[in-house]
Amino acid sequence: MGALPGLVVWDVPLRTRFRGLTRRDGVLVRGDAGWGEFSPFWDYDDATAARWWRAAREAADEGWPPAVRTHVPVNVTVPAVDPEHAHRIVTGSGGCRTAKVKVAEPGQPAGADEARLEAVRDALGPDGAIRVDANAAWDVDTAATRLDALDHAAGGLEYAEQPVPGVEALAALRRRTRVPIAADEAIRLGDDPLAVVRQHAADVVVLKVQPLGGVRACLRLAEQVGLPVVVSSALESSVGLAAGLALAAALPELPYACGLATAALLAQDLVADPLLPRDGRIEVRRPLPTADLLAAAAAEPALAARWGARLAAVRARA
Ligand SMILES: [Mg+2]
Repeated sequence: MGALPGLVVWDVPLRTRFRGLTRRDGVLVRGDAGWGEFSPFWDYDDATAARWWRAAREAADEGWPPAVRTHVPVNVTVPAVDPEHAHRIVTGSGGCRTAKVKVAEPGQPAGADEARLEAVRDALGPDGAIRVDANAAWDVDTAATRLDALDHAAGGLEYAEQPVPGVEALAALRRRTRVPIAADEAIRLGDDPLAVVRQHAADVVVLKVQPLGGVRACLRLAEQVGLPVVVSSALESSVGLAAGLALAAALPELPYACGLATAALLAQDLVADPLLPRDGRIEVRRPLPTADLLAAAAAEPALAARWGARLAAVRARA
């Protein structure tokens, strides 16, 4: 074990293709309060990535507000895989009673989403909760029709996350479907997260710590929004997930399972005891990276150089 450096560029494989990715990479930064993760996806520009950097600095320099709970209930995430695989993911989820199922994946045949949802319902049993995430793939008409069909296939949907892009379309869809609507991209990619509230566009909001600039920024936003909050990850390592866990632990109310059980999507992690669920919940804690695991995940020089340049550009804006 060597000494831990202050900045580490890491790059690890995913177990399953997710968000079009087969690997996940980013930077860990160490400060007085601990390690922070900076891992904006490569399709985000420097202005957007600057919020992710603020979240990393908060983790490294300040730490997080106190927790009001010791455990956070979480959902298992089911990528756009075939039914047998979906069933296996749910039964191997560490006891999760809620499943979030990706739907509307481009290029998949008709009926693939229904078959996946039926498999997930079979694995969860009748009292489990199923939500879907379409990542804004549909228009309002398509979404109204598809949600009807998927609600039926799933034996009832808890909610649908961002079925259509933007706030106006969400609001229009919400008037046409019995499935509750959750806003994700409309909150974190828009300039005005409160438009969702003004336009009555959602029943639930999804908050993610890195895209929204930190745990404190998310707590302020949750208070302003005044709707139930689901905290989700941005497919971070367990170092980044700890920030999401800190937010979920600090929220006054937490009526839904959170989307923080994503550590298992990474084929390797940066900590020895990853933030994985047991009995459907994750213990609120902050695992530390080890020098061995950071060395095993170290990025190749070309990728490390790309991150160095990106970080310099983002810091120049801060
Ligand atoms: Mg989403």
